[in-house]
Amino acid sequence: MSINHDSPLNRVNPLQGTDSHFGFSTGNTLPLIAAPNGMTHWSPQTTSSSGGWFFHPSHRKLEGVRATHQPSPWMGDYGQFIVLPQTGPLITGAGERASGYRPENAAFHPHYFRADLLRYGCTLEMVPTERCALFQFTFAPEGDPFGAALTRRVLMDFFPGASRMEIDPDQRTVRGWTRTNSGGVPNNFAYYFVAVFDMPLTAWGLFHGRSDHRPGAESAEGDHLGAYVEFAGDQNRITLRIGTSFIGWEQAAANLAREIGDTALETLRVRMAQKWEQILGTVEVEGGGTVAQRTFASCLYRTRLFPRFMDEQTATGKQQHYSPYDGNIHEGPMVTDNGFWDTYRTVYPLLALTDPQRLSAIMQGWTNAYRESGWFPTWASPGHRSCMVGTHGDVVFADAIARGVPGIDIATAYEGLRKDAYENPPHGTGFGREGLADYLTLGYVADDRIHEASASRTIDYAFDDFCVAQVARALGKEKDYEELIQRAGYWRNVFDPAVGMMRGRNADGSWRQPWDEFEWGGPFVEGGTWQHSWGVPHDPAGLIAVMGGADAFVEKLERMLTQAPYFRIGSYGMEIHEMTEMACAAFGQYAQSNQPVHHALYLFACAGRPDRTQYWVRRVLQEMYTPDILPGDEDNGELAGWYVLSALGLYPLCAGHPSYVLGSPLFPVAHLRPEGGKQVTIRAITPEGKAVADCPFVHAVTWNGKPWTRLWIGNAELAEGGELQFTLDDTPPARRQYTQDELPFSLTPYAL
Ligand code: CA
Repeated sequence: MSINHDSPLNRVNPLQGTDSHFGFSTGNTLPLIAAPNGMTHWSPQTTSSSGGWFFHPSHRKLEGVRATHQPSPWMGDYGQFIVLPQTGPLITGAGERASGYRPENAAFHPHYFRADLLRYGCTLEMVPTERCALFQFTFAPEGDPFGAALTRRVLMDFFPGASRMEIDPDQRTVRGWTRTNSGGVPNNFAYYFVAVFDMPLTAWGLFHGRSDHRPGAESAEGDHLGAYVEFAGDQNRITLRIGTSFIGWEQAAANLAREIGDTALETLRVRMAQKWEQILGTVEVEGGGTVAQRTFASCLYRTRLFPRFMDEQTATGKQQHYSPYDGNIHEGPMVTDNGFWDTYRTVYPLLALTDPQRLSAIMQGWTNAYRESGWFPTWASPGHRSCMVGTHGDVVFADAIARGVPGIDIATAYEGLRKDAYENPPHGTGFGREGLADYLTLGYVADDRIHEASASRTIDYAFDDFCVAQVARALGKEKDYEELIQRAGYWRNVFDPAVGMMRGRNADGSWRQPWDEFEWGGPFVEGGTWQHSWGVPHDPAGLIAVMGGADAFVEKLERMLTQAPYFRIGSYGMEIHEMTEMACAAFGQYAQSNQPVHHALYLFACAGRPDRTQYWVRRVLQEMYTPDILPGDEDNGELAGWYVLSALGLYPLCAGHPSYVLGSPLFPVAHLRPEGGKQVTIRAITPEGKAVADCPFVHAVTWNGKPWTRLWIGNAELAEGGELQFTLDDTPPARRQYTQDELPFSLTPYAL
């Protein structure tokens, strides 16, 4: 086969963001070897003793390759198991069986992993598919240095939790199931695998932990079981094909037959490379230098891993899924592993631009999540998990519907969105809106009643209501629309004009005491008022007005970016990693490491200062992202999606509205080639008409050759295809006086 070394696929670094630990995140990612939005991801495991942080790029021992569904180390894994080849004596403890490897000589690609296990004289290669994987183990032919033929063995091990293993020597198969999970599953949850070897087994057995070895055993049920199979010492190459399923062994075998069958490793590798190249080809950049291109491709890869599809096709071609909500098997698509608080901001608006067909299937999956559980998830992994605040599935639906994504059952979706907006959820369930009763009667979540994130919830619910209102209007539900659009202004109820920022408020209307602009937690979540006071993407003019007009607003944004990154740990009681990351980043109170500020730099432009948007966005792109490092928790594609969109010069400031605010493109040329849609080329030139080197300031924009004065471009225009051209220069343009039509969407009319 041939590999195109200049292809975007070869620019992807799956190790980006992996150099992280509990106390400091440069991404908190795993090097996921996986199909796009694949049901089963695979990752090398280098340590079993650090919980969710089971891979680190500085480690030099490999414990195996893990089948994983972990969306973030904070949420934990489920249905996981590990595969490792071995020679010599049987050693089963996770730490003891690990083999030295040279990470710098290993191959990490989205579609292919290879590592030399130095202790075992074995090269491990693997190629993933959506629900399966093909492993190839190539053993050194000479055995050990003294010429002794060494036993060749493959271990498959579960993690603590109920499990079953079965070995069928005649069929050369191992199959198993595990109930291991981190919550959010029905009682009957299990994850199944079927493994098929291509060589005769000479010995086999089961094990539990490091010393409970059961040679010859063929089946057992119990906690944390492992299985091993052995091969004749002259078998130098062993191929292992693994199918996985949430439904059962038969389904796992059907998945394996469809996705891999008897395909050889090289063929499968080319096929999966092509899949990724197609995905990466939907947004391709030219120029800008190798580092920026590698960063871009690595970020784009991150946006296409989550949410994962968890539907499967029967042998007769019927699409079905195990429901992580009611535990039954249902027809149709299902997706999971996604925190909407994070992802609504960039992942979904980017998919609407690049792959509306895929987004359509994802939205059908989320609609099924509502059908099967009665509520839209706020954080799904795989079922409802209680994490973060707001019901931002509302935003994702409004956004996809507004941007014209096809195939959404809007009436059913609206049922669920309306429930978010009007019904109190059972306490502590992880869905719906905590404190909704107060929000509906007082107009805000009372700080003395809901002790966690009262102001953050109010701000988020107001934006969620704006989004639900958009869907109500699309369905002609005028009464709902009027009510919800009024509620979209409730953020004003937690804005204290005396201090000029958002603030916790008690049920009697008094403000939370004492005022502390640097305190994290309390009325806010994962931040303080400096990070959360900007959370009104649907009403920038309203926010600018209450903050004292355009000049005062711009001054306050600048102050956020330049003042000391001081913070008090507040209700967290410890310095959480987001605090450390903000402090170390030296961008003042602007915490790109976390989501609440992600739209804030684009608010400069709304206040007539696009030059400050252009300046600061460029600095964040160039100073906080590299092919190896992200500014903080990656969060299922959100941080990476920010980079991709900002580097294109398009940012979905107000999700739920079909527009992208214009920034400043990082690359001289970018091509959007949406699946099934028309191509858009984004070009950056100098005033002399040359490709730009490196300057952020936009002096003119044309769309298909005509001057474009609006600060935003709509999905409607982009769908027509064409060329968006930015003329860039290295001197800041004068303050821009936009007309109201040229400014982005705002509930309050602009009066700058
Ligand atoms: Ca985060």
